[in-house]
Amino acid sequence: MKIIAVNAGSSSLKFQLLTMPEEHEITSGLVERIGYDNAVFTIKVNGEKIKKEQSILNHKTAVELVVKGLLENKIIDSIEEINGVGHRVVQGGEIFKDSVIITDDVIKDIISLNDLAPLHNPANITGIKAFRELLPNVIQVAVFDTTFHQTMKEDAFLYATPYEWYQKYGVRKYGFHGTSHQYVSERALELLDNPKAKIIVAHLGNGASLCAVDAGKSVDTSMGLTPLEGIPMGTRSGNIDPSVLMLVSQKEDKTYGEVLNDLNKHSGYLGVSGISNDSRDIVDNMHKGHHRATLAHKVQIKRIADYIGSYYVYMGGLDAICFTAGIGENAPEIRQDVIEAVKVLGVELDPVENQKRGEHLISSKQSKIKVFIIPTNEEVMIAREVMRLK
Ligand code: ADP
Repeated sequence: MKIIAVNAGSSSLKFQLLTMPEEHEITSGLVERIGYDNAVFTIKVNGEKIKKEQSILNHKTAVELVVKGLLENKIIDSIEEINGVGHRVVQGGEIFKDSVIITDDVIKDIISLNDLAPLHNPANITGIKAFRELLPNVIQVAVFDTTFHQTMKEDAFLYATPYEWYQKYGVRKYGFHGTSHQYVSERALELLDNPKAKIIVAHLGNGASLCAVDAGKSVDTSMGLTPLEGIPMGTRSGNIDPSVLMLVSQKEDKTYGEVLNDLNKHSGYLGVSGISNDSRDIVDNMHKGHHRATLAHKVQIKRIADYIGSYYVYMGGLDAICFTAGIGENAPEIRQDVIEAVKVLGVELDPVENQKRGEHLISSKQSKIKVFIIPTNEEVMIAREVMRLK
């Protein structure tokens, strides 16, 4: 059975075709710069990336191109071979406590959440509509970044703001990266052979969040109403005192929207270091003695450690810490410094294992808490959801 996992952004569309239930990737690709004359379509054929530049003015054309690319490159023989489509949707609010088969009503409900994710949900809908038009008889499933966190209790998800803001506008913590946190924590429970284990997943990529998972359920996570809350990221500030908004808007004669843009796009690693949003540049420059790169690293490590400590206390213990995503999977020095910062919990790495890649245990024999690298796979998680709901 062949399932496509789709992630539609405002000007891009990523896809992966998988065979299920084997969970094997057949191909993947991406359309970038949708809406422009010089859009780029990339598809992997026999492991090699084929790129084509052409005008792609909307998502419908992009989807047609993806399907044509699958046919022309003989990845599928006919469109009927596609048995299901899984769409990543960023914000499911409190409406969607689970993935869902897409109907006209579901689309209306997703649109009703646009205020909560103005940059993401409209783009996700565009992708959904384009695939529904082209493949009207194929099951389409929406998989939300937020549903895994819908198990958080009120004490974890409520902000201490006027309660009416929550009632009237849905102001609360939703959390994101849910498919990744779910995939990694499920795998950790298998590796630990303990369905009741208490786990912290550190999804450290350009976007980054932590999640406390108790017996398979998310009980707290670092991102909030939007992906801006939590630990600092490549270009996002993470938590700050909201009064910064007013001060900087006055000092720099900027609107709140513009300052918010600075907090989203010009902060984090990039803002503190002044060099780059990429962790590799930060670590390289830190070794060369660059003061602000070192600071960016130290701030990041402290904030991650703060969350680990707080989740340890909130869950009343901890069995495993799992590193995932671009940095979590590939940056031994960052893993090392995070674990060093929380060593008071009795956790310790095996320095040799920490240098290796791929899914494995990296804590030492005497460590009281196990530490794993578990490469995330959001596409497999999305395809699993399609299979479950078929
Ligand atoms: P996102 O999906 O949020 O865009 P990724 O999960 O791809 O981000 O992570 C991007 C981050 O991963 C970058 O900061 C980059 O420095 C880091 N990264 C990727 N590959 C490596 C590597 N081989 N070694 C160290 N860091 C890496």
